[in-house]
Amino acid sequence: MRPMTSEAQFLQPEPAVEAAVRAVGEGLFRLMEAHPSPGILSKKGAYARIMEWSMKDPAFKAQLFRFVDVLPTLDSSAEIVRHLREYLGDKAVELSPAMRTGLAAAGLAPALVAGPVRANVESMARQFVAGTTPDDLVRRLRSNAAAGIATTIDLLGETVVSEAEADAFLRRNIEVLETVARAVGGDAAPCFSDLGTGGALPRVNLSVKVSALTPEVHPADPLRSVDRLKERLRPILRRAGQLGAFINFDMESHALKDLTLSLFRSILEEDEFRVRPAVGIAIQAYLRDSERDLRGLIGWARSAGRPIVVRLVKGAYWDYETTLALQRGWPVPVWSRKPESDATYERLSLLLLENAGVAAPAFASHNVRSCAHAIAQADRLGVDPRAYEFQALYGMADGLKSALVASGRRVREYCPVGDLLPGMAYLVRRLLENTSNEGFLRAKDAGGATREELLRSPVEILNAGRPPAAAPAATSFRNAPCTDFNLEESRSRMRGALERAAGESGGRHPIVIGGRRISDREMIPSFNPARPRQAVGHWARATEADADAAVAAARAAWPAWAARPAAERAAVLERAAELIEASRFDLSALEVLEAAKPWIEADADVSEAVDFCRFYASEMRELGRPRITQAVPGERDIQVWTPRGVGVAIAPWNFPLAILCGLTAAPLVAGNAVIMKPAEQTTVIAARLMAILSEAGVPPGVVNFLPGFGEDVGARLVAHPGIDFVAFTGSRAVGCRIWETAGRTQPGQANLKKVVCEMGGKNALIIDNDADLDEAIPAALYSAFGYSGQKCSALSRLVVLGGVHDRFVERLLAACASVAVGDPSEPGTLVGPVIDAESCERILGCIERGKREATLAFQSKLPAAIASVGTYVPPTVFVDVPPSASIAREEIFGPVVSVLRARDLDEALHIAMDVDYALTGGLFSRSPSALERAQREYRVGNLYLNRGITGAIVERQPFGGFGMSGGGTKAGGKGYLENFLFPRSIAENVMRRGFTPPEER
Ligand SMILES: Cc1cc2nc3c(=O)[nH]c(=O)nc-3n(C[C@H](O)[C@H](O)[C@H](O)COP(=O)(O)OP(=O)(O)OC[C@H]3O[C@@H](n4cnc5c(N)ncnc54)[C@H](O)[C@@H]3O)c2cc1C
Repeated sequence: MRPMTSEAQFLQPEPAVEAAVRAVGEGLFRLMEAHPSPGILSKKGAYARIMEWSMKDPAFKAQLFRFVDVLPTLDSSAEIVRHLREYLGDKAVELSPAMRTGLAAAGLAPALVAGPVRANVESMARQFVAGTTPDDLVRRLRSNAAAGIATTIDLLGETVVSEAEADAFLRRNIEVLETVARAVGGDAAPCFSDLGTGGALPRVNLSVKVSALTPEVHPADPLRSVDRLKERLRPILRRAGQLGAFINFDMESHALKDLTLSLFRSILEEDEFRVRPAVGIAIQAYLRDSERDLRGLIGWARSAGRPIVVRLVKGAYWDYETTLALQRGWPVPVWSRKPESDATYERLSLLLLENAGVAAPAFASHNVRSCAHAIAQADRLGVDPRAYEFQALYGMADGLKSALVASGRRVREYCPVGDLLPGMAYLVRRLLENTSNEGFLRAKDAGGATREELLRSPVEILNAGRPPAAAPAATSFRNAPCTDFNLEESRSRMRGALERAAGESGGRHPIVIGGRRISDREMIPSFNPARPRQAVGHWARATEADADAAVAAARAAWPAWAARPAAERAAVLERAAELIEASRFDLSALEVLEAAKPWIEADADVSEAVDFCRFYASEMRELGRPRITQAVPGERDIQVWTPRGVGVAIAPWNFPLAILCGLTAAPLVAGNAVIMKPAEQTTVIAARLMAILSEAGVPPGVVNFLPGFGEDVGARLVAHPGIDFVAFTGSRAVGCRIWETAGRTQPGQANLKKVVCEMGGKNALIIDNDADLDEAIPAALYSAFGYSGQKCSALSRLVVLGGVHDRFVERLLAACASVAVGDPSEPGTLVGPVIDAESCERILGCIERGKREATLAFQSKLPAAIASVGTYVPPTVFVDVPPSASIAREEIFGPVVSVLRARDLDEALHIAMDVDYALTGGLFSRSPSALERAQREYRVGNLYLNRGITGAIVERQPFGGFGMSGGGTKAGGKGYLENFLFPRSIAENVMRRGFTPPEER
């Protein structure tokens, strides 16, 4: 093997091995000719046209696949016709000429179109799904056996949102094991592919997707997830052991990979499963860390003395993994070039063959080169052909299956069975694979590639090509990535930070005015809402006189700060961002303790604080450059910005770092001086921010720290004549009062006060009849209950259309039971205590009112260990809520959600908007016209389509609403800094006695 110089260090096989691979490949191609089977294009009718067009026209492909995805949920012919028109328009007619007459008459008789469309898609699905019942499966198993092919069963059923659904999936697995075992038990001798080196292999072979076994997989809490998964896996393994069946663990998204590997190992270490049943697991070669995982697995199997099968695949979720990582700013876990996946596949093939005694290889690929490579290497190493097998999907690569059998290799077909609805997700994956630009099947059947090209070594291709150049950054600003808690390293850092934070008493935090630290005031303790006796720290309570002193200090300091170049101020904020990033875990841990934020929420809050500093800094660098308003010869017309002066930032406790940081950083970088007035409940976190800003270089007096109570220092500052602006986020009651007070001009006041005011919401998510409930339900749960609903963006109303209402509510209520309530120090907690006793009482009062106004449909049972400690409110759902009910109109700021029924989208939009607030809102729909309509008509500050309605990200989704939600400003968005600046226009005559400098012409 000669090393190569690519970043991934792939090795080019020796020339002799390479020649053998090609020879085997040629042989397979010849056998495939002798056993012709339909390629991806050679099937007749609509399918062939669909595939051809999809390959030519990516936009059509996207629309078509979306239509296929929604089709099974459409329960009337009229709906099918409407969606067909919306997605495909005239293309539908071209797809099937019969459609022209049908669509013309569709207004009168939609069934004329809907029937054939459904039939066509169903027949497409049948090409990839072996049947709907265990009997269909048994038939397929037998016909496969007659052709010398073994079978592995896959029960379709992709997303479970509740324990009840996971239980149902578990029962289906057991049933299928039993039915198939009964049916094949009496069959004659095993077929060729069911015979291994040690004799007959298990005839019943079931592939299991672990995600379908529990609704509760939490990245930050894999141990708990593994425990839950084991509860449902044990019965499957036990029954498989009794029946002599084989269980394969499929591999899904990268987020579940480590968890699946650890589940696999740890459950097989249990005494009961040390020997039986026979088991296997999939390894995805498209993952960059697949080699490390495979080596770990082989080492484990060897030391546990537990032979396993490893199904080597490339991986089915490449687009998803790539998109998700890019969205989150995480390293992309998959290779970026197709030959890298292929080369890794070959490398891992070799590794498996070298360890075939403990990890029997199952090469799952439709790629002739990948299969030929495995055969050539097996022959070279002298591995018995019965010691490994090939696997291929039902409905795909039939020619290759026959060719492999004819060449004396064992082949197993992966047979999905199940209903059409989960079948669609599977069908779309197969269609994507078959039309993928880079896929082998497309290159073979539709791309006109020669055999020579198809058999070319991936390492050679890598050596010949260049890695694509990285795309240039669009803007200088980049969002700070949140922590990936799937990684053990992240979890252990967070655990360490929590231990440190809990071990400290939190210290005593002084007032800071003009750089002077003032401690000789009443000291107020700040408590952990989850353990109310645990003080997180103490802070000095500022008085009204302190407020006056802070204004004086700020007024004295701001002119010098304002005079500093914008770029210098920006650099100070960028330094603050670095400091926040450097203490990310400690700040998160403090948020967990002082604000009862769950891990993921606390971490996201830290990221947002970093983003605010960097984003406003980059905005200020831009605003700091004079803008030429119009180029006119002889005159220089520019606009510049000047800071307003001195302001106060009044922040809430629910995003204790990010919001205070944003409200302070924006005016600071714009050249103002700021007095920070943090929320009483989260003053210790605020004190850390103060320390960071000072360390970053914000001069004394330019930022001041005035912890205290809203009623005294807050009110004093808002009314103070020395204050030029107020940046506020908080409740509607306080916001409106501030707006009024600030509007009253005081004697001696220099400027009209500007108020940047962000208040509450009564946010609704509309669920359309055709919504994807697998996605809508988890999104609704998270939006409603994440951080106990204590976000102004939180979901508090679900407006559900009549056609889907009952199904949605049934699944939602079942799913609610899995919402994890507990101490937020525990990594898997979604709902912790609410912030304090006062909030708790108020929310419980709302729930009591709700019981009189509507039907209480769900309320979590609080675990006994926490019920008596901490200020917990159980997640609560009301149904049959009339739009006029107070729980449907007033902000609750707790884990309470109301479900309202709507006749149609008109009524749903009316209900959604018929409240005082206009902050966030959302729609789950798979109708393009409904999505467009929401964009036009659903008037809220932040509209979210087909996703949750919380978690706005700086720059990407500038945040803020109107109505009684706020003054229409957008935190983290373009233009936000202008709230803290005055624009100035300057016109200069640059002509002297008729002479105009050339650059001014
Ligand atoms: C029996 C069987 C079981 C399977 N079980 C699983 C499973 O448990 N988990 C799972 O994830 N998949 C599984 N698969 C799916 C399998 O991963 C796909 O069928 C496979 O992607 C197709 O690979 P190929 O070798 O047949 O095709 P090829 O066309 O040679 O390869 C396609 C592969 O290349 C990757 N690729 C495409 N573009 C790029 C790029 N730019 N950079 C890097 N890589 C790229 C694709 O993601 C895909 O993985 C299974 C497949 C079979 C046949």
